[in-house]
Amino acid sequence: MRRSRKPLGLRVPGVRISPSPPYYIYDVFSDYPATIMKKYYLFAIILVFFLLFPSFCNAQTIETDEAPSPEQGYEHYMKQGDNDKALIIINNMITENETADLYNDRGIIYLYGYNDAAKALEDFKRSSQIDPDHIAVHTNMGLAYEMLGYHDKAIIAYRTAAAKYPFNDWTAYGSDRARGILLAEEGQLIQDWFFLEHSDKTPSESTVISNGEDLSWFRPFTYEDHGYVNLSNLYQTKDFTEAFAMTYVYSPEQRDILLKIGSDDGIVVWVNGKKVLDNPSLRSARVDDDIIETSLSAGWNTLLLKISQDWGSWGFYFRITDTKNAPIKDLVFDPMRDTERAKKICSMVRKERFLRDLNQGSRLFGVIILLILGLCLLLKNVKDVSRIKKMRNDFIAGVTHDLRVPLSSIKASAEMLIDGKVRADKKQEYYQNISEEAERLNRHINKMLSFRRTETDKSPYSFEETDIVPVIEKAISVYKKESPSDELMIGFEINGSLPPVPLDKEAFTQAMINLLSNADKYSPVDKSIVVSAESREDKLFIKVKDKGIGISPADRKRIFDSFYRGSGKNERNIQGVGLGLSFVSGIVKAHGGKISVDSIPGKGSIFTIEIPIPGDNS
Ligand code: ADP
Repeated sequence: MRRSRKPLGLRVPGVRISPSPPYYIYDVFSDYPATIMKKYYLFAIILVFFLLFPSFCNAQTIETDEAPSPEQGYEHYMKQGDNDKALIIINNMITENETADLYNDRGIIYLYGYNDAAKALEDFKRSSQIDPDHIAVHTNMGLAYEMLGYHDKAIIAYRTAAAKYPFNDWTAYGSDRARGILLAEEGQLIQDWFFLEHSDKTPSESTVISNGEDLSWFRPFTYEDHGYVNLSNLYQTKDFTEAFAMTYVYSPEQRDILLKIGSDDGIVVWVNGKKVLDNPSLRSARVDDDIIETSLSAGWNTLLLKISQDWGSWGFYFRITDTKNAPIKDLVFDPMRDTERAKKICSMVRKERFLRDLNQGSRLFGVIILLILGLCLLLKNVKDVSRIKKMRNDFIAGVTHDLRVPLSSIKASAEMLIDGKVRADKKQEYYQNISEEAERLNRHINKMLSFRRTETDKSPYSFEETDIVPVIEKAISVYKKESPSDELMIGFEINGSLPPVPLDKEAFTQAMINLLSNADKYSPVDKSIVVSAESREDKLFIKVKDKGIGISPADRKRIFDSFYRGSGKNERNIQGVGLGLSFVSGIVKAHGGKISVDSIPGKGSIFTIEIPIPGDNS
């Protein structure tokens, strides 16, 4: 039993109409000798009469014009193509008893018998109101919606049915219809067919194939199928049981393809006149039911189908994929066989595909670049983490060193004094040393605090108009005492007169000491340092010049950052924590000035501080 008939609620036993017996009897015995005829005539008549008696009765009933009884069933008349009689019966039944089944079945009569989807839909809706769980009605509703062109609603109805009855054949049929609609929306199902006009005498297969071009084909311009090509929409009467559909497809190259077909009912397919499929089964169309491997030649190809029907829905799904089941984009379906147009479309499709591939390629390239960047960042992070770790260790080592040296000196002097080991005339020297070392300790602590001050940007600087020369001289003299090296020579050149500037003496002295300390530290051989000061235009320029190891251009950009230490191997052997210059830079900025560096690696460096000289008005 076909699925498309399954939704009918009532069933009647099949009824066969037999030909009139006397005709057969006469036919069979006409050539026999008369004697034998006489001998068996009566016996044969009686036997045949009894054998065929029930058929007589049935045949009698069908031929009568009396109103059909419900027991005879509307399905029987539908099969006969007598929808009117079927409708009379079912209408009578509905008047007596309104059931979901009867409304559903009447909907089917409207849908298939009269192609009246609107009326069918009304009945299906009524049926589903009476029984929302009716097994067939939602799928039927979907079919009616499809016929009316409401594809979205059809999909919803099919899905409702499938959700209620996931393992039912009829709902599976609906799910396929939904899949067909979606495939059509992706442009995967071939919809561009033209159909053979039905004349009184449908041409035979061979006529269609050999004279296909002379026959009269039509293209239904109002035709709005969407997925499933519904022949019931095209052929309004039930007089025809065969339809021919044809299309031309342009392929830019010879290629192997898969034809994927699902049909209600039997189907025969020819590609370029060669029969590739002959499936006569009475069945409900399922997407991709038949899959045939065949090939298209370069240029125009003819696809011809013969679809036969039994009863119910009548149509097919037809699509083409490559042998790996992927849709083929550069196939052009055109009944007018406009080669120029087809070529243009194909080249456009190819261009698009090329661009898409390129796009995908560049996307891939982008992803790779991102991955590499990510990896670099990760490595940098790892490097940064270990750099910070190293900086922390250096910092602790540096601070410990800076604090321990004066502390141990103070401790040693104090112990000597306590133990009474110092001669009376030397005592003053020891007290002096303790005081100076304590002062040095104080400076180191101030340095830390100042760093904190610049970092947190709380800057309680106190400025006063100051002659810069004594400030520089003090810094030089303090540092000279502090320096561990004996060969240190610090010259001071004053070029021209220097106007007083607003200065935080304490902080500026510390900044100068830091620059001198660096010049000393990073000059392992020649420790002659020159400090100079001059005023040009509205600025004071203070320079600290050394003949040390110099600074590479890459390092020059970063040495004023906190905790940055030079990357050369020389610097690694020199004690430091990378805070001195950031501290100097903070102080100079607080004075409204700036600091820069010039350097030739291996030759030496010049650090220049610029301090603005306020005008008369300021
Ligand atoms: P630290 O001296 O503790 O490392 P600084 O902030 O004072 O920290 O200096 C930062 C970096 O600048 C030093 O590690 C060094 O590489 C470089 N530097 C500073 N002054 C000099 C200089 N006079 N000569 C060469 N390199 C210098």
